Amino acid sequence: MGLKTLILEKKKREDIGKKVCGDEISKSHFDATGIDYPSGDEVSSVVSGADVYPPNLQNELIVRGWSDFDGWTVNRWRFGQRLLEEALRAGATLVDQARAGNPEVRADRVVGVRYRDVQSGQEDVIRAKLVVDASGFAAVMRNNIDSPLVEKRVAKEDVALCYREIVKLRVPMAEPEVARVFLGGRFAPRGYAWIFPKGPQTVNTGVGIGGGSGARPPRALYELFKEEYPLLYDCQVIEGGGGAVPVRRPLKSLVGNGVAFVGDAALQVNPIHGGGLGPGMRAGIILGEVAKEAIARRDTTARGLWDYNIRYLTGYGRRLASLEVFRRLLQQVSDDDINFGFEKRLLEAGDLMAANRGEGIPMGLLEKVRRLKRGIGRLSLLRDLQRAARLMKKMDRLYRRYPHEPDRLEAWNQSVLQVIEAAVFGRR
Ligand SMILES: Cc1cc2nc3c(=O)[nH]c(=O)nc-3n(C[C@H](O)[C@H](O)[C@H](O)COP(=O)(O)OP(=O)(O)OC[C@H]3O[C@@H](n4cnc5c(N)ncnc54)[C@H](O)[C@@H]3O)c2cc1C
Repeated sequence: MGLKTLILEKKKREDIGKKVCGDEISKSHFDATGIDYPSGDEVSSVVSGADVYPPNLQNELIVRGWSDFDGWTVNRWRFGQRLLEEALRAGATLVDQARAGNPEVRADRVVGVRYRDVQSGQEDVIRAKLVVDASGFAAVMRNNIDSPLVEKRVAKEDVALCYREIVKLRVPMAEPEVARVFLGGRFAPRGYAWIFPKGPQTVNTGVGIGGGSGARPPRALYELFKEEYPLLYDCQVIEGGGGAVPVRRPLKSLVGNGVAFVGDAALQVNPIHGGGLGPGMRAGIILGEVAKEAIARRDTTARGLWDYNIRYLTGYGRRLASLEVFRRLLQQVSDDDINFGFEKRLLEAGDLMAANRGEGIPMGLLEKVRRLKRGIGRLSLLRDLQRAARLMKKMDRLYRRYPHEPDRLEAWNQSVLQVIEAAVFGRR
């Protein structure tokens, strides 16, 4: 868009895009942003459908036609390299092996960023009208900015800790395009284990668990999963690694004075499955448009950039916020309750899809009565489900009314926190 854009990246250029990830990305994010679909060697496998298993591995939900999930697994490195090349072709300049550090602050405004050349150790400062922290989970700048608009701390329970491997199976899969998700249980307390296809005989498989749960480390849980799940017996490990991803609603403000946040640094990740590629891509497009306008108006204060908050948080971010309530429900009800819910079909595949689209858990009166009959014996679980549905709606309404100016942010955020505090389930 004609803006002078500099990318500081700590890795070598040829390593950009290498990241421990589940590699799954839905087609819907490309349709929403206009970014070209992955193609050629960027694609590992098509993903079409998911089987979701409760802790006892019985009565799984067979989800097909889930347009918000179906898409591809990508070769993460090649996909990252393609996005980088597109940015460079559009006029951005890359300085690789440059580790960004503290923001350069004047009065209450970010005016640049300090960085260190990884090879020589030499330090320098870059000044800019707008600095964007896109440093992922590390959020290197955000954690060093003192402003009432900028949240630094993310609670341990709002982080998923993961370990994953890419493995070659002994035999080809029966349904090579279907993703498998395993909720809770011994392998993934307060989280899930996954097997995503990477080819007819190759998968990306791992475990992500809620932080602060006191459970065994994700790698140990993953090894247990691998030992006990027959598909993975005697598989050949191609690569492995650990990582962390935020699973909370996005930051209350995605901007400060002279600064904006995007991707994991802005907590733009789906709280129920930890998918952050699409939510970050959607935000990046909006931020680019808002930045261009703000720079043209010579106003990159928080107020000048506020439209990014409004456009993202009343749109896709709203969906992520109501999903935080759903995540809390899934994490707090017992494994036994989840098994019961799957057995009696208290949650259907359609509910999962609607919840993921940010539509809450829509239930007509007749449907409520049907489920009440099926759920007799576990009324408390039904009550939790209904309460979660109500709180998700409330969160949705709050985000639709995101404040139009920074002065009203704090009052709004207090209302959001009240919903979060009420999202306590499974205690009886
Ligand atoms: C195990 C695991 C599985 C996941 N599975 C999926 C999945 O299947 N689908 C999905 O959509 N999402 C998944 N995610 C989440 C997804 O990987 C992230 O949401 C996404 O990569 C975030 O993109 P980002 O650009 O914000 O951050 P990143 O991809 O982390 O990129 C940040 C970049 O900033 C650079 N950087 C960091 N610090 C500095 C610094 N100080 N100076 C300069 N450069 C710096 C890094 O080198 C990197 O290139 C998963 C995450 C994990 C951990």
